[in-house]
Amino acid sequence: MSHVITQSCCKDATCVPVCPADCIRPRPGDPGFRTAEMLYIDPRLCVDCGACTGACPVAAIVPDDELGPATSVFADLNRFYFEHGPGAVDRRTPTPTVPGRMRLAHEVAAAAAGPDGSTPGGWAGDLRVAVVGSGPAACFTVEEILARAPRARVSVIERLSAPWGLARFGVAPDHLLTRRIRSVFERVIADPRVTLRLGVQVGVDVGHDELLADHDAVVYGTGAPDGRLVGIPGEHLPGSYPAAQLVAWYNGHPRAAGFEPDLSSERAVVLGNGNVALDVARILTADPDHLADSEIDPRALRALRSSRIREVVVLGRRGPEAAAFTAAELTGLRHVPGLTVTCSTPAAQVSDDATALARQKLALIAELPERVGSGGDRRVDLRFGTTPIEVVGDRAVRGLRVAPTGGADPAASTAIACGLVLHAVGHRSVPVPGLPFDESLGRPPTLDSRIVDPTGRPVPGVYAVGWLKRGPSGVIGSNRDCARETVQALLTDLRLEKVDE
Ligand code: NAP
Repeated sequence: MSHVITQSCCKDATCVPVCPADCIRPRPGDPGFRTAEMLYIDPRLCVDCGACTGACPVAAIVPDDELGPATSVFADLNRFYFEHGPGAVDRRTPTPTVPGRMRLAHEVAAAAAGPDGSTPGGWAGDLRVAVVGSGPAACFTVEEILARAPRARVSVIERLSAPWGLARFGVAPDHLLTRRIRSVFERVIADPRVTLRLGVQVGVDVGHDELLADHDAVVYGTGAPDGRLVGIPGEHLPGSYPAAQLVAWYNGHPRAAGFEPDLSSERAVVLGNGNVALDVARILTADPDHLADSEIDPRALRALRSSRIREVVVLGRRGPEAAAFTAAELTGLRHVPGLTVTCSTPAAQVSDDATALARQKLALIAELPERVGSGGDRRVDLRFGTTPIEVVGDRAVRGLRVAPTGGADPAASTAIACGLVLHAVGHRSVPVPGLPFDESLGRPPTLDSRIVDPTGRPVPGVYAVGWLKRGPSGVIGSNRDCARETVQALLTDLRLEKVDE
């Protein structure tokens, strides 16, 4: 997902300094700015946060999934500019961050507020909210509360000693521009109406009931930190881990403090082919000297310097038309220096009803070579239509048995020799003592952003946002809309409650 600049672009460039990913070009002063027909957004870097849409005075910027038949060509135009046009060159000079230029939602709302501070559809009275978690979903929630309820006081409760959740411990360490989103969150939390309480775990240091008694509402945005395993024999052998564990390790998350993946074999296999799979494949095969310029944890970098892994096989159980990674991330992977991306399974037929996105992804996959040339490149091999059957090994992983998906003949299975198997097949939330939890969903049951009890009735004053609410899907910017929805539910309930009183 990314945003796209369309026809009405007026080139006033107010969007450029507000972009936390610095992905809009050309800028005033760049060669070609005066002669450019419009500005463009680099879809490989856009974090889909929507900050530019708020800054654009002519509503020229839209999310790519809202493009229609007449405007879809702008997605290609934006991309083309950076892949083949002047943007391929002028991306090399970063725009200095302009602190204070971007107006956050609550700042915009404050400017439009009435004399009593009220905003349309907002809440003019006092309000005390606890937001649990300090990742993207939590921070966008705080921003939205401040925008809609100017007299609100918000306590942000974070169990770790460092804030920003996924934006610090989930986003790949080499995605430095995406990580810049933290500057938006820093500004939200710096608001005097917000108190950030680090190192406080709900259920351990403070009870859920206690929190609820002290606030008008509690919003949980605690994400889905635990990685899932596929559920095959041998998956608990040393060397077979949730990809989330490796992500925690290379991002220096405290829970990976004792984790030491064995990187002594030449091949690793990643199960699943979403963006997390591509992230871990890229980090395992990247040149450590390049990673040294990233925000990777020093301990992980040291281990990767002596890693013997030269190939990562990324296994998709379905065909390439159903690949879960985004075209942007595949494009990014293909541009890693010293890395060759191959696809050793035959190209799929394009069905007549394939979406433009699927066609584009298939076209990208079809361009991949089947095998590496004779050079010493590291390699990521994408394999499709392949189901993992068993992790093989005695005391540690030695291989993975796989079979064609849907194949009836068990004898058709083959083994891939490897020393590391990473399960990148989704995430689960962690239960909070005192809150309902649905084991089958891997998160609390919710209805319209409200956490509900086992009978389906909303627990008064308790809400969910982000991956805890909608499951592990979407990029950082997806949480902005999700937060709007949650805060809307909270304010609706508040109004009803006050009418009842
Ligand atoms: P994901 O995109 O949902 O991908 C999960 C993968 O696991 C899919 O390929 C899925 O295959 C596979 N899978 C699930 N169950 C399986 C099983 N039993 N056996 C084999 N394969 C199985 O999840 P994710 O990669 O964890 O990413 C989560 C979200 O974070 C996504 O929205 C992603 O885009 C986002 N994210 C974004 C970035 C970025 O923008 N740079 C980076 C990381 C994550 P099927 O499709 O066949 O179910």
